[in-house]
Amino acid sequence: MEDIRQAGPGGGFSSDEVARARADTPGCAKVIHFNNAGAALMPRQVVDAAVRHLRLEADMGGYEAAAHAAGSIESLYDSAACLLGCDREEIAVVDNATRAWDMAFYGIPFRPGDRVLTSMAEYGSNFIAYLQVAERHGVRVDVVPNDEHGQISVDALRAAVDERVRVISLTHVPTNGGLVNPAAEVGKIAREAGALYLLDACQSVGQLPVDVREIGCDLLSTTGRKYLRGPRGTGLLYVRREILDRLVPPVLDLHAATWTARDRYEMRPDARRFETWEANYAAQLGLGAAIEHALDWGLQRIGARVARLAETLREQLAEIPGVRVRDLGVRRCGITTFTLDGVAADRVRSAVAAQGINVSVSRTASTRLDMDDRALAEVVRASVHYYNTEEEIAAVARAVRTCA
Ligand SMILES: *Cc1c(COP(=O)(O)O)cnc(C)c1O
Repeated sequence: MEDIRQAGPGGGFSSDEVARARADTPGCAKVIHFNNAGAALMPRQVVDAAVRHLRLEADMGGYEAAAHAAGSIESLYDSAACLLGCDREEIAVVDNATRAWDMAFYGIPFRPGDRVLTSMAEYGSNFIAYLQVAERHGVRVDVVPNDEHGQISVDALRAAVDERVRVISLTHVPTNGGLVNPAAEVGKIAREAGALYLLDACQSVGQLPVDVREIGCDLLSTTGRKYLRGPRGTGLLYVRREILDRLVPPVLDLHAATWTARDRYEMRPDARRFETWEANYAAQLGLGAAIEHALDWGLQRIGARVARLAETLREQLAEIPGVRVRDLGVRRCGITTFTLDGVAADRVRSAVAAQGINVSVSRTASTRLDMDDRALAEVVRASVHYYNTEEEIAAVARAVRTCA
């Protein structure tokens, strides 16, 4: 919050910088985009990198194009390592955040009686995996309650850990609200307990600084298309070097391992043992450009502006009769959620869309525990990015006011 106030009304961006961010984003001229938590608008640098490679594949052949671009493809690992504060050997590039998370979670050699500790705002896909592993391996899943601010209760977590806890699995920023869970405090507890710590950072990476060493997580998953502004169908997994051999990759192929003799194989010595051979290199090069673009602006600065804009949006929405802003937490980010009394979320979304504004709807099934706990079936989600403006925020508020 201190960051936000220091950053002033523009969130630390000058009007020239906002103009440059928008000029670099072709979509800004076409739509008012408040679905950045779904998929943000790509900068032209990202589109160019991806399209250039696709053309190269068409012109010279896919394998030949990959060989030609090998240096740039490799430098994606350096960019990702710089983004997350780790080493390049600790990065795997995969198809999406779900696959990244799955490779980590299903790679944990669970034994009957092991416990998984998780939080109320857990993402639906993750929870389905907990249920499957509970069924398959006799693992117990325990949900740590929230504190009075609606974030994971660090005290309750500390009280819940024992030697049976195999993994603490936390969503950093939930898909259905603006709260930022206290990931680093959870990291301290995980270290003390000797438990693995898996962080779903799908909604946080790209909108605020996320440093794996500061947080103290062993595993982190994220996606390319959300706040990072990369192409769809890209994701990253971080695996802390020291725990690599404690995981058993759920699948292996001839990229993840080498077939060394008729009856033997050797796994790669790095996190790329969680990848597969075939990849969409055009999209990966786009992701590399997206990460470089974010690093150029600076994640601290992006985070300050995003938080400032989202606070402005919440303030303006809260003034509209019947609107209830639903975001929880001590620290809040760019995801803004609300309901409008007596109006279905889909009606709000389509009324707003008629004004050329993209928002989305988040429903029970994506975060069931949290939604049930708050007796919510759906919320409208308006997620801001640094290229959004105060004028766009006013337009969203006007459009919502018309529905009310
Ligand atoms: C979107 C999302 C995911 C899934 O990411 P994909 O790239 O679609 O697999 C996982 N966790 C959270 C919290 C999300 O919001």
